[in-house]
Amino acid sequence: MSQQQQMTEGGPRPETSRGHYILEVLGIAAFFVLALFIAVDIYHGMANFGYLWLLPLLVLLAYLAADLISGIVHFLADNFGSPEMPVIGPGFISGFREHHVDPAGIVTHDFVDTNGNNCLVSLPFLLLVWIAVPIETTVGGYLFAAFSLLLCFAVFLTNQFHKWAHMQDPPSTVAWLQRRGVILSREHHNVHHASPYDTYYCITVGFWNPLLDRTRFFERTERLLRSIIPGTDPRLRVEREGSLND
Ligand SMILES: [Zn+2]
Ligand SMILES: [Zn+2]
Repeated sequence: MSQQQQMTEGGPRPETSRGHYILEVLGIAAFFVLALFIAVDIYHGMANFGYLWLLPLLVLLAYLAADLISGIVHFLADNFGSPEMPVIGPGFISGFREHHVDPAGIVTHDFVDTNGNNCLVSLPFLLLVWIAVPIETTVGGYLFAAFSLLLCFAVFLTNQFHKWAHMQDPPSTVAWLQRRGVILSREHHNVHHASPYDTYYCITVGFWNPLLDRTRFFERTERLLRSIIPGTDPRLRVEREGSLND
């Protein structure tokens, strides 16, 4: 992307079509409406079942689950499919690919472009929880819904944390959280943006990254997927291309 094409803070990124930007705005609105509906049901469930003391544990589990999900989704989008694929190509995969061409570009994305896609991918799951889970009438449904809502909020925050990890001079509270390892830090995420760009995919806080790197989880998963998906080149992306930036 040329310097001239880069946008300043406050507008959609140039690669986002107007249609997708509107979809992102609607996705964010629908995310919060659905979250509110589920929260009301959880509140009623709380009156029936209690278990408020479980909340810190649910927050921790949901946060770590979001970190792991962020890694898996990011890994898939960096290595499989193409920006030309229908539906998820232009709106989803292209964002991950462009991010490796222009890593600093993310700091110019506005609130909608930063967080819209994560809201959109959470919507089917939130809708299912709201429609199908017996939140007010069963303990299991109540706890599962509470975990699911916290998980979706952590997913919602993930790309915001990712954007902050790319900022040279983030807000002081953000920098404090980064220094204490509560959210993704710049130093930690830099490992992913160093050649060969094939590790440290988790971008909420990065808790799982050292373990997944040591066990070569993503390398093994990529090899496995390439061996079972018909028509896929059996070589790893780094073996084929060297790196995402080549
Ligand atoms: Zn990446
Ligand atoms: Zn990044």
